[in-house]
Amino acid sequence: MIELDRGAALEAIAVEVRACTNCRLHETRTLAVPGEGSPETEVVFVGEGPGYNEDRQGRPFVGRAGALLERFLMTLGWQREDVFITNIVKCRPPDNRDPEPDEVAACAPYLRRQLEILDPALVVTLGRHSLGRFMPGERISGAHGTVRPVDPTTGAANALAFALYHPAAALRAPEIERTSYQDVARIPAALLQARARREAATTTAPAPSSAAEDVVTAAIPADAPDIRDLPEVPVAPDAAIDAAIDAAPHLALLATSEAGAADDQLTLF
Ligand code: SF4
Repeated sequence: MIELDRGAALEAIAVEVRACTNCRLHETRTLAVPGEGSPETEVVFVGEGPGYNEDRQGRPFVGRAGALLERFLMTLGWQREDVFITNIVKCRPPDNRDPEPDEVAACAPYLRRQLEILDPALVVTLGRHSLGRFMPGERISGAHGTVRPVDPTTGAANALAFALYHPAAALRAPEIERTSYQDVARIPAALLQARARREAATTTAPAPSSAAEDVVTAAIPADAPDIRDLPEVPVAPDAAIDAAIDAAPHLALLATSEAGAADDQLTLF
């Protein structure tokens, strides 16, 4: 799908979301928040639901948590326009309460359709409800900074999920904020893993034939788990990603720099 088509398809969903009355959250919202970002991105960030500022502006992650998310992205040399940012529920739960299961279920088709259009390589979960969708059964305390294969029924046909604490949690606890910066530094290696996994699923010839494939090969050491086993055998993500960062000097530099020089950044497609 070309960018124009993807953008138009995403906007069509956004129009539906803004008029949606499929659950009780429409009664108390100011504006629905469909999500926004690059239609061509490889990386989709999924939070839980809009907060006070998002509800008033109709845009995701525009309050203090959004500012922190943008700082996280800046450490990778990325801007929010480079990725797509959305939520599990598109309307603000009153008083920022957790969304109810029936509200999550009512809203689920919108996210599924967005992911079908975007076809991301990497889905970054922000917080508990998003984690539950893409890494069911996991707890954020153990899963943060790690990857799992995504169930294609979520709409992401061939993606890895990468878990982050919700930025709002990082704002409340300096230790979680420090941990989150360390986790964010692992996103480029996770994206390389995701790209390689997609490549393995679409090519029959294992030998790399382009500069981009060389980068992927360089980032994954020979003794790392075979990425083609990912669907059947969950990876040991911490070890695999740490090894990938150690094996790729440009990623190690990226992981420790604030903004990073342009040449050292992993470019999003
Ligand atoms: S939360 Fe989702 S399902 Fe509920 S009214 Fe908003 S858009 Fe519709």
